[in-house]
Amino acid sequence: MDVTPILDNLNDAQRQAVTLPNEPALVIAGAGSGKTRVLVHRIAWLIDVEGVSPNGLLAVTFTNKAAAEMRGRVEQLLGIPVRNLWIGTFHGLAHRLLRRHYREAKLPQNFQIIDSDDQLRIIKRMLKSLDVDDGRWVPREVQWFINGQKDEGIRPQHIDDEGDPDKRQLVSFYSTYEEICDRGGLVDFAELLLRAHELWRENPELLAHYQRRFQHLLVDEFQDTNAIQYAWLRLLAGKTSTPFVVGDDDQSIYRWRGARVEHIHQFQKDFPGTRIIKLEQNYRSTGMILNAANAVIANNMGRMGKNLWTDGVDGDPIRLYAAYNERDEADFIVARIRDWVDQGNLRAEAAVLYRSNAQSRVLEEGLINARIPYRVYGGLRFFERMEIKDALAYLRLIAHRDDDASFERVVNKPTRGIGARTVEMIRSYARANACSLWRAAGAIASDELNGRAANAVLSFLNLIERMARDVEHLDLQDKVDHVIQISGLIEFFRKEKGEAGETRIENLNELVSAAKGFEPDPAEEMQPLDEFLAHAALEAGEGQADAWEDCVQLMTMHSAKGLEFPLVFLSGMEDGLFPHQRSVSDPNGLEEERRLCYVGITRAMQSLYITHAEQRRMHGMENFAIPSRFIGEVPDEYVEEVRPKVQVSRPVRSYGRPQTSVAQAQQAEMGVHLGQRVRHGKFGDGVILNYEGQGPHARVEVNFETAGTKWLVLSYANLDLM
Ligand code: ATP
Ligand code: MG
Repeated sequence: MDVTPILDNLNDAQRQAVTLPNEPALVIAGAGSGKTRVLVHRIAWLIDVEGVSPNGLLAVTFTNKAAAEMRGRVEQLLGIPVRNLWIGTFHGLAHRLLRRHYREAKLPQNFQIIDSDDQLRIIKRMLKSLDVDDGRWVPREVQWFINGQKDEGIRPQHIDDEGDPDKRQLVSFYSTYEEICDRGGLVDFAELLLRAHELWRENPELLAHYQRRFQHLLVDEFQDTNAIQYAWLRLLAGKTSTPFVVGDDDQSIYRWRGARVEHIHQFQKDFPGTRIIKLEQNYRSTGMILNAANAVIANNMGRMGKNLWTDGVDGDPIRLYAAYNERDEADFIVARIRDWVDQGNLRAEAAVLYRSNAQSRVLEEGLINARIPYRVYGGLRFFERMEIKDALAYLRLIAHRDDDASFERVVNKPTRGIGARTVEMIRSYARANACSLWRAAGAIASDELNGRAANAVLSFLNLIERMARDVEHLDLQDKVDHVIQISGLIEFFRKEKGEAGETRIENLNELVSAAKGFEPDPAEEMQPLDEFLAHAALEAGEGQADAWEDCVQLMTMHSAKGLEFPLVFLSGMEDGLFPHQRSVSDPNGLEEERRLCYVGITRAMQSLYITHAEQRRMHGMENFAIPSRFIGEVPDEYVEEVRPKVQVSRPVRSYGRPQTSVAQAQQAEMGVHLGQRVRHGKFGDGVILNYEGQGPHARVEVNFETAGTKWLVLSYANLDLM
């Protein structure tokens, strides 16, 4: 057998990991050292060389995107398609199990997944109907409590309120919320995991079946497993299977969502004889970037400690830009991306990272004005857009009449004369009779409601029943098309003035395309519509559905985990923003932010820019910000400050370390100054607006009279000084 392709391009430590005998293994290594690569090669090795059936493997990754990529890479390595391979996220795999064994999981066959927005809406409505003090009980906090308990694997009946009335109240919210979800056949993200765990725990034969089947468990990003995920893995591993997990303690960034990096130690206790393999060579980043990352993370305590090195080039220093405000920051980033593309690079190779989703808006505006296509990961995603959720709600109601969240969403959308009072009556009937809104509506339409309201409700119920009948035998794409037309949504958004309405209609049509392009997973054995709806809910957490256009990547630092890009911007590097305000006073919180910073820096392969603004408008207020303390943790020798545009001399900024301004020296070295007139062979006459870099990297921005503004590398441009 020819095993070379699988073992090619691996270093010794990687090869050792890939070819380990069947025993528990923990690969623990820093960013960019090839952990994910090892996992992929291990899968290929097991199938091709060890003769393991693809059905006997289960691999967990962190995002659906990563799962798709992993499957693609395994297929490429093996040269054959690997269908039915169980590769997915914890949520995706848990969902698959629950679909297959819905009865044992005590769920209706067509249960629906709700995302965190839906969940919040349900909680808001619940609090309202319980008539509790809304100043005291904040929906988000209640949501936080419920999900936190679920992530730990705890049901309301397990919680000891310790006589604390507040806690007792929260527990009672939790159980009411559970009742609502059970009644509607709704499953939130945390519930997927908890249910899947209970499914196995309470059905030993089923568990035994899966334990026999999955002799090989592989987990990427192991440092970010939470309690319930780890418990699920342990159950599955049982006594015989040998998990192979890879991770990096320095990249644990989901503690706030229940992840426990301690699982790395726990694993070694739970699986005695665990082989530990360390990878130390980094293949991703230049020396400058890697050294900067190492220096920042060195400020954390209690690390497992790793020594990452590269034999690649040192590369350019990290560029630091102090923007005047957030717009200037965005303009700067856009200009650098434009240069990048002008040099013949792909837009998709550039990523702009930020700490919070809200920061994307200004960056997006800058990109839109510059007509540079981009895609936002996280933030407002295709499947989370209002009109898409409306259409999905119709589809869900068709599949599952008792879905209260969907019922509420579209009962009067488009407007059909069902007022707030009527809806309130439906709700209270549902509460009193512990039934779904759908049933309640049917019941009161015939007796309690007056003529007009009754007619409006009945015609809504009829519309849904009629649509359900009409689409029954259509294929998925036609189902979706029919529903967006007949529901009246298209008509409704057409009335919305201007571009907004048009965009919504475009999006609805895009949903039909998404349905057309949707390929049901042969391993799922579900109705295509149900699978599509589940896919929409799971996918909403990730990229947009829009095509494969070459576009700049915008995302939070959290969503960048595991990815890599030749050009990276870390924007909004200001204290309070990053590190985030709520963590600056808490040492554990601060360390987690620092790990996030480490993740951010190590996404960059060739070029890294760090930007911060001196003034920033956030939530409608002007704030003066100081540079992030993490900037000060990068040693000077790896950093080069980019000259700001407007000022020639400015007070020395503090990055938490002494720093001398090199502006004057730089100018002298380059023999140019701002405002200087120059002549270029091709572009003609112009004025120097800005410059950055030193030595061979020195570049100037010139405003040419006819050719417009351009950045030029000084050593190539052959400028004549005038
Ligand atoms: P992260 O911690 O960010 O998830 P990782 O440890 O999973 O990183 P990979 O993404 O697997 O690292 O690898 C980083 C980059 O290095 C990838 O582009 C990968 O293809 C490349 N790489 C890894 N090992 C080698 C190798 N032995 N030879 C050449 N390239 C390699
Ligand atoms: Mg990885």
